[in-house]
This record gives sequence, structure tokens and C-alpha cells, in this order.
Amino acid sequence: MKLRKLALAAAVLVAGAVMLLVPTVLSVPASGASFALSSALDGAPKGLVDVAVQAARLTRQDPNVLLAIARVETNWGQAQNGQPDELVPADVEARVDVAALQAGGATMSLLGLAGGRRIGDWVNPQLVGPAQEHAMGFMQFLPSTWRVEAAAAPGRPQDPYRPLDAMVAAGSYLARLQSGAEDWIKRSLRDALAVYGGDLAYADNVLALARPPAPVGPVPHTGLEPISCPGIRLTQGYGPTDVVGEPIINGVRIHTGWDLACPVGIAIVSVTAGRAHVTLGYGVGFGNNVQVQVGDLWVRYAHLEAVLVDDGDPVAPGTVLGLEGSTGFSTGPHLHFEVDRGCPAVTCSVDPAGLISLPDGT
Ligand SMILES: [Zn+2]
Repeated sequence: MKLRKLALAAAVLVAGAVMLLVPTVLSVPASGASFALSSALDGAPKGLVDVAVQAARLTRQDPNVLLAIARVETNWGQAQNGQPDELVPADVEARVDVAALQAGGATMSLLGLAGGRRIGDWVNPQLVGPAQEHAMGFMQFLPSTWRVEAAAAPGRPQDPYRPLDAMVAAGSYLARLQSGAEDWIKRSLRDALAVYGGDLAYADNVLALARPPAPVGPVPHTGLEPISCPGIRLTQGYGPTDVVGEPIINGVRIHTGWDLACPVGIAIVSVTAGRAHVTLGYGVGFGNNVQVQVGDLWVRYAHLEAVLVDDGDPVAPGTVLGLEGSTGFSTGPHLHFEVDRGCPAVTCSVDPAGLISLPDGT
């Protein structure tokens, strides 16, 4: 979901005509470049890591940032959205190397994917931006942005479905947003990523993958429990589950925390120090919930009836975060207590055992 200016689009269509006459194919040099791959990006296809290093060198970006964007946007090419190919405008589609996307093709081999992909597989079904476009390609550019940024990028990348071209355009776009070349506003990397992806939550998601904080080691049990009441029950533990609606991670449906049940309205207490990240919502997911970030841990307190801290508040052990409730995907009052390590998402969840104790009698 990238919102971008359209002002230069006409000029770039002219540049595009020139590009047709002088196609420049970016190439990846022999591997050997080394850098510290983020632990949160361990699963990236080896060939793609080399491509990211090359794109980053050309655009003075961190390869981890480009790999993290590719993970968020198309899951390193695994996305199969099944949209009509025609949603990509003809002038952009004309440059797409369709053979590379077929089973055994260059891009599929690079990404380690057994099957092939259609153009429509990497098209976002949602219409976004002032021109109401579909994001497309390996790094999910809007076509209008692709035309502008590909023309401005080193080597003039041609094919938004070719990982190297897409990563060079993305790195260049970020660099232009940071330097002020895009619109005379200088930005931090985080702010540039927020423009790239639409909001700061997107930026933080990318940065959490690209630069996970150094592990702080086991968090000592603080002696605090997040919720307590007479008759408290653990109604569901951490691990594989059959409950439809729970997330599927690495092919396994999993309950990502502990469900602790007390009557509605019981105070929910932070068991650690840290900083509060507040998300409000009623219908789906975790409902009203607070994540307290401390080191590489994000400790989640979900389904709250009321939240009693503000986003960004510093939190001390024992701070009352809110009141137990049943907001979000919940069938009755309970606290969903979750520990995410290394990133703020359920994909990073670990068993909360060690941080808090099971309630007596469970
Ligand atoms: Zn739960």
C-alpha cells in the first residue's frame, strides 16, 4: 500500500520510451559479499540475499531493509494472490519477463520456489492511492510510482517482477525519500519507510525484521502475575490448536499465548517494565490490546474491556494496563497473554512459561 505522487508520471512516460530503445539489464556479480544478516530474516532464499546485497550497494541501503520489505510485501515471492494479470497496466506488463516467473524460470530458481507464478499472483487485490491502483510486482509498487522510481534508480530497472530490479527501485526510492530528492523533505529511514508503506506501523514492522534488538537473555520472573482472581483458570495454553481462526505459522495452527480467565473487569497488570504500544479494536483479532516492549520482547495483553495507558507510555512492573474483557476474537472474558520475542508479531510468539507462572490449581 504505497501512496505516492503522480506529478512526474508524464515526464517518465517519455523516459520510458527511451528505456525501450536502450534496455539496461542489471546484473548480480558473483557472490562473496558478506554482511550481517538479521536473525529475523534467516529464512530468506540464499540467492535473494545476494540480490539484496547488490541492490543495497547500488542504492546505499541496508540489505536487511530490502529483504525485510520483500518479506512483508510478497513473502519473498511466495504470495499467490490469484488476481487477473490485466490489473497490471500494459506499459508496465510489457517489460515483465514472464518466462522468468514460470516453473524453473530464473526468478523462481532464485527464490527457491518449485512452482511458477502469474503476473496476477503478485497483484494486491486492494485499490489504493490517489489514482486507485493495485500494488504489483516483487516489492509491490503502485504502477505510477514504479514508472517514476524505476526511471530515477541506478541502471534504470525495467521489470518490477524481477527481484533485482524491484529491490534497486525500492532502495533508490527510500534513498530519495531520505535525502529530500523526492520532495525536498529530508527523512529518517523510519519516516521514509512510512511513506513507502503507508504508515509508521509498516515502518516498524520492516525495521523489526531488519534490525531485531540484541537479545536480552531470559527475562527473570518478576514475581508479578498479569491477572489474578479467586478461581482463575488457564483455559487454553500455548501451542498447536484446532480452533479455527487462530493463526497458521509455518503450516501449523497455533494458539500463540495463554488464555487466563477471570470475571470481566479484573485489573490487568504489566509484569515487566517497558513501553506501551496500544491497539484499539472490537470486532476481530486481539481486540483492545497493549504490547509492552522491553528489549527484544513484546508482551501482549489482549481482549481488554478498557485500556488505561496511552500509546508510548513508559510502564513499570505492576502498572495497571487495563481491565479484562472479551473484545476481538474471543468467546468469553479472558486475558490472552502472549510473549513475542524478536518481533512484535504472532509469528515471533514463544511459550510464556518462565515469564509468568501457571495459576495455582491448573
Ligand atoms: Zn488466546
